[in-house]
Amino acid sequence: MQKCHFLTRRRALLAGAASMGAAGLAGALATGTGRRTAAPAAPAAGAQAARSPLRPSAYRLQPLTGYGPPRAVPGRTPVRSAPLLRMTGRGNTMVLTFDDGPDPRYTPDILDTLAAYDVRAMFFVCGETAAENRDLLARMADEGHVVGNHTWSHPLLTSLRRSRIRAEMERTCEVIEKAYGEPPQWFRAPYGAWNRATFQLGADLGMEPLAWTVDTLDWTTPGTRTIVERVENGAAPGVVVLSHDAGGERSQSVRALRDYLPQLLDSGYHIGVPRRPYV
Ligand SMILES: [Zn+2]
Repeated sequence: MQKCHFLTRRRALLAGAASMGAAGLAGALATGTGRRTAAPAAPAAGAQAARSPLRPSAYRLQPLTGYGPPRAVPGRTPVRSAPLLRMTGRGNTMVLTFDDGPDPRYTPDILDTLAAYDVRAMFFVCGETAAENRDLLARMADEGHVVGNHTWSHPLLTSLRRSRIRAEMERTCEVIEKAYGEPPQWFRAPYGAWNRATFQLGADLGMEPLAWTVDTLDWTTPGTRTIVERVENGAAPGVVVLSHDAGGERSQSVRALRDYLPQLLDSGYHIGVPRRPYV
């Protein structure tokens, strides 16, 4: 049993942030590619079909005071013109991210592995699946992981009107805040398809755009060994790794994590989650 299991959700989140500070990282992320990095793939990863209609959201129309942790303050988040691709700062820290979930078939196994090695990761969830698996978001919070917004129904945002993009983001923020306990501070566009509206709306909702450095392409089910090799070959300080815990058959992703996580740790990497520079 991991120690964080006994912490309150809020304390676990704070503990996670503190551990990043102890690792000597500013928690900043950087745009642009650097040494040993790869550009995000073109629209491809983790396709999911919309399964339910998007209802109007009252998110942000609620009062900003009340019980619970403080909300991110709108207006404090910069509007970027490109997503963040990697972490900057000292230390051999890498970030593991899992998209499209949660899925009760795979997400608990991934959480178990992360807990076994006492490391924190990021989960970019879809509101549609998050709403059906609120218990898994609560577990992510209890165990110190970071939950980001990956839209409600995983559409290609660049093909949508602004109002629809906003609805996809807001509704998902609402579900995350209720189930996780805090509003998301990070946003990732499905298929890595960003445009000006996604940057503006994400910033308006207090979220930083985070892409990735290394794409495992695990959604193509290339084989567990191949996924492991892609992570190991891409490993470098500051690298953000993209995998999926939902959106299809993900047992290879689950098995690969059990293999590459201890190897990364044995190689001297610290696995952590970024802190927001603007909160
Ligand atoms: Zn996705």
